Amino acid sequence: MIPYGRQDIDGEDIAAVMEVLKSDWLTTGPAIERFEQQVASRCSVAHAAAVSNGTVALHLACRALDLGPGDMLWTSPNTFVASANCARYCGADVDFVDIDPRTYNLSVERLEEKLKKQKPPKVLVPVHFAGQACDMEAIAALAKRYGFAVIEDASHAIGATYKGEPVGNCRYSDITTLSFHPVKIVTTAEGGMTLTNRADLAGRLAILRTHGITRDPSRMDKGSEGPWYYEQVDLGYNYRITDIQAALGSSQLRRIDEFLARRRALAARYDTLLAGLPVTRPWQHADGVSAWHLYVVQVRGDRRSIFESLRAHGVGANVHYIPVHLQPYYRALGFKPGDFPAAEAYYAAAITLPLFPRMTDADQDRVVEALAQALRHE
Ligand SMILES: *Cc1c(COP(=O)(O)O)cnc(C)c1O
Repeated sequence: MIPYGRQDIDGEDIAAVMEVLKSDWLTTGPAIERFEQQVASRCSVAHAAAVSNGTVALHLACRALDLGPGDMLWTSPNTFVASANCARYCGADVDFVDIDPRTYNLSVERLEEKLKKQKPPKVLVPVHFAGQACDMEAIAALAKRYGFAVIEDASHAIGATYKGEPVGNCRYSDITTLSFHPVKIVTTAEGGMTLTNRADLAGRLAILRTHGITRDPSRMDKGSEGPWYYEQVDLGYNYRITDIQAALGSSQLRRIDEFLARRRALAARYDTLLAGLPVTRPWQHADGVSAWHLYVVQVRGDRRSIFESLRAHGVGANVHYIPVHLQPYYRALGFKPGDFPAAEAYYAAAITLPLFPRMTDADQDRVVEALAQALRHE
């Protein structure tokens, strides 16, 4: 089976992990700060805090922005459940903004309409779906006019650019979050990161990631009682990453441009190979360059039988995403089919084709042949 996504681990990655295993620090050592500095530099952002996964990065971002009971977070229905769950962890409510049928990202027009009719949320989470940046300049203008905070969920999008600048630079947001799950652009096995230019938020994020504890006398309530002394100044968590994972992340970053180049070449090749088939290829806005985490086509006809035929022919197709508001947990909160029709129509026809750096041209030819065959039987 050709998987839809897969990590690319080389000998240097393995050596980097082994090096940490032989060192004095397995966790909370020098490899973490090095990894954070490398990502911050890559994304042109002032502060980075590595954490145990992308989901907790979103949770900490919400906590740092004081999201709590009685507050509201809006996000896209076309995302992984974590983009919405982060609000629920804080006791806040969730609502969704329907998607743009071209980019499959949260629609700025729908957002503006909703803001005119309803109380603004405290936090908006635009998700850079498949690696293509949202229209952040327009979102930031609305955030300013209506007074809400913005967390960019860039789990798909490290390495993408928007208006010539790297996603993650937080020019248009308060915080950006990343995921380093194995199917994403670079991996630490499990891992994530928060990025921000705001020193106040960076301080809170760093403390919340490790139990709400500080050893910095300037952040203490009472002041230090001695070299052993620490204070818990907030209710935080153990959301730390290990040095083993951070070393893997640093090693992976050596090859991020190679990974991105291969993903972009494969996406361009899909565009060419699929041009004659009755599928809608992913439309790209001229404002950005995608990181191509996913290559999603829209099919006509019976999506399920096309999908099953792909799987039967050894193609590990997938579907991203089941609209979050249709998950039973969210239905129980009152959401129902028809609430976000663009996301639902998109979902009904979506198939994610395999795309990962080690995919060969021959693998890709097999995928296209299997898809052509599945569509012929429609
Ligand atoms: C992967 C992903 C997450 C969560 O990341 P984990 O590292 O798996 O916790 C959040 N949002 C989106 C859009 C994702 O794709």
